[in-house]
Amino acid sequence: MLKLSKKIQGLPPYLFLEIDKAKRRARAEGRDIIDLGIGDPDQPTPKFIIEALARAAMDPANHRYALDQGMPLLRSAIGDWYKSRFNVDLNPETEILPLIGSKEGIAHFPLAFLNPGDLTLVPDPCYPPYKGGTILAGGRPYLMPLLAANDFLPDLKKIPLAARKKARIIFINYPNNPTGACANDKFYTELIEFAVKNKLIIISDLAYSEMFYDGYRPRSLLEFPGARQAVIEFHSLSKTYNMTGWRVGWACGNPQLVAALAKVKSNIDSGIFSAVQLAAVAALSGKQDYLQEMRDLYRQRRDCLVDGLKCLGWEAMRPKATFYVWIKLSAKVDAISFAAHLLQAADIVATPGVGFGRWGQGYIRMALTVSEDRMKEALRRIKKIS
Ligand SMILES: *Cc1c(COP(=O)(O)O)cnc(C)c1O
Repeated sequence: MLKLSKKIQGLPPYLFLEIDKAKRRARAEGRDIIDLGIGDPDQPTPKFIIEALARAAMDPANHRYALDQGMPLLRSAIGDWYKSRFNVDLNPETEILPLIGSKEGIAHFPLAFLNPGDLTLVPDPCYPPYKGGTILAGGRPYLMPLLAANDFLPDLKKIPLAARKKARIIFINYPNNPTGACANDKFYTELIEFAVKNKLIIISDLAYSEMFYDGYRPRSLLEFPGARQAVIEFHSLSKTYNMTGWRVGWACGNPQLVAALAKVKSNIDSGIFSAVQLAAVAALSGKQDYLQEMRDLYRQRRDCLVDGLKCLGWEAMRPKATFYVWIKLSAKVDAISFAAHLLQAADIVATPGVGFGRWGQGYIRMALTVSEDRMKEALRRIKKIS
């Protein structure tokens, strides 16, 4: 018999499996499914980025192995974008590393720092690679519950001394997937203090830094004093420029942390397709007014969905950032059964919160990735079954 490694066996179960299967079955039956389940933009990549890719793809110079550490042109475009967005200077030589999507970097990073039995401090619910990357590197995730009572921020004071001593890394993700919560300056200041005191590396995942509304603007941890000694930050073009399928993002921050990740990756991949790198340069250095159009679109959808759900008596949170609406179910309703019921009775896909971790139990997540018309149709169907 083939026996899987202990690490693979130790990965959390994939709880969306049943929902995925049911969704496929329903589609095969020809039912008109409204999919609010996936965090993948429905709009196309802006045309000027596609054109940059097409031009670059025609050039044979771009057909060969790319540089592992990314093109100098891309690293400097990232540095310029970062400076204009956060007013933070990054050295493109040592403090920026392009990635084949940020997920890859997040999942590989723990390999550079964990020894067997080491802990990482992981928010729960969370984006799954924080736990997966930890376990694949031989470590163990220590869960920090994200609770409504604490605005979905981890309560650092509650982390026991024994866990702090064994931990090497703390994962943070604001604006947050799946809750839509945002961090404030006080939390970031305390987080840096906590990390320095406990000799922890902070991984800050900023995948949603550009998806914000109502005058709110997420900050980078690297804007805060002392951050440069402890922080590696992960960015992605996926959500910002509707480029999830293209696979491009970057890590930046402390040069030793960036170099360690580069060392891991040099044993695994051989860089990003150069034509994609040049398209990323076009995205980051082109006109950014497209971003405001996207924000307006998501904000309108958010208000349509949240207002509609509230009218029906649902407890839906209105996020200041991200394209996720986090919805509290009434007490004792199991999130997986509720999602199954929505699909069965209303042909609507939503993600059960417990799929992101046990502290997501009692919630479901809806993504703002369908048109307002479809959202209104979803609301009509929900009304019918409630
Ligand atoms: C979508 C997402 C990412 C982006 O992943 P890519 O690999 O860059 O596409 C990273 N973190 C979170 C929390 C996400 O939701």
